[in-house]
Amino acid sequence: MTRAARFTRKTNNEEGRKMQNIAVIGAGMAGCTLARRLIDAGCVVHVFDKGRAAGGRMATRAEGRLRFDHGAQFVTVRGDALRAQLGDWQGAGVIACWPSASRDGDTHWVGVPGMNALAPRMLWGADLHAHTVITGLGADRLGWWLASEAGMLSDCFDAVLVTLPAPQATGLLERCAGFDAGPFVEALRKIRYAPCWTLMLAFEERIDAADCLRFPGGGILNWAARDSSKPTRDATRECWVVHADAVWSEAHLELAAEDVAVLMYEAFAQATGCSTRALHSRAHRWRYARVTETLGSSCLWDAKAHLGYASDGCLGERIEDAFDSANALADRVLGRSA
Ligand SMILES: Cc1cc2nc3c(=O)[nH]c(=O)nc-3n(C[C@H](O)[C@H](O)[C@H](O)COP(=O)(O)OP(=O)(O)OC[C@H]3O[C@@H](n4cnc5c(N)ncnc54)[C@H](O)[C@@H]3O)c2cc1C
Repeated sequence: MTRAARFTRKTNNEEGRKMQNIAVIGAGMAGCTLARRLIDAGCVVHVFDKGRAAGGRMATRAEGRLRFDHGAQFVTVRGDALRAQLGDWQGAGVIACWPSASRDGDTHWVGVPGMNALAPRMLWGADLHAHTVITGLGADRLGWWLASEAGMLSDCFDAVLVTLPAPQATGLLERCAGFDAGPFVEALRKIRYAPCWTLMLAFEERIDAADCLRFPGGGILNWAARDSSKPTRDATRECWVVHADAVWSEAHLELAAEDVAVLMYEAFAQATGCSTRALHSRAHRWRYARVTETLGSSCLWDAKAHLGYASDGCLGERIEDAFDSANALADRVLGRSA
């Protein structure tokens, strides 16, 4: 939006509320939650993500007619805020219970038709710029500016909210111009992640195994699930998602994906007794998969500079932690908490 157009929107705002133009960097659960909250409060929200689509680690990979949720497997709900959000997602038909994974009364929810279905629902009304790697940011007397690989963006913003995994956010904030983001960088260095190699497999025939397999630590595998057993998936296709153990993933982080696929497939075949050749086999490396050390506070917000940070890394390792962190930052931005 141009400066003139923004002025018009501000002056046209009949409720007399200040119409803010806000940039959110990253369209995972944290970025999408921020966008939803701020749009609902009357802000104009631009969301930038380097990916093809929104969702971040809540991802669904399409390989021809095959579909794999190769990142987060399910959503679990502990707090009231996410429980309230669940109602909206259920009403919109973008989430359903996955009975095979639910256990001990703890319902495991999945996006339908894929884990990446929640993000577009939350981004209604946002101006999403996918395929956009933000490479620089800075503040001057006109507000915040952003740069992508294609150069400086033509708009400027009243606030910038960063939701990238901490190492990526740190790299960006270290290059911040016109504002000393040193305190953000220092704080974000506390957050640590474990990587995860993921294997996507498809078979001609059904594998004789339970839908969800959890493996004890110390081996190659951590988790394997029949992705096609999730609600609304194409059950005629035998698709599996297999996650490697965190320690094993770290030790094999720089191995070629083809070599990792062979090693993980052997471990999967041994665990399930499956001797069928996979129709499709592809490994994906999540360098920053699960948070192992958190920031220990819900978000970062500089109320004077209008710069903020939220992500799962602030609070924990689950989708709900990203959601809670983003809500805490939205409260700060909207002046609803100290
Ligand atoms: C393999 C795996 C399994 C998991 N299983 C579960 C599970 O079962 N249940 C659960 O609750 N959680 C699970 N998680 C964790 C969960 O996915 C995360 O906690 C949550 O999705 C994090 O959301 P976020 O918004 O903080 O970060 P992200 O989802 O990582 O979002 C950050 C976004 O920033 C974008 N980005 C990065 N750099 C740039 C840049 N320079 N410019 C623009 N965009 C950029 C990325 O493309 C990404 O979309 C799993 C994660 C992985 C990887």
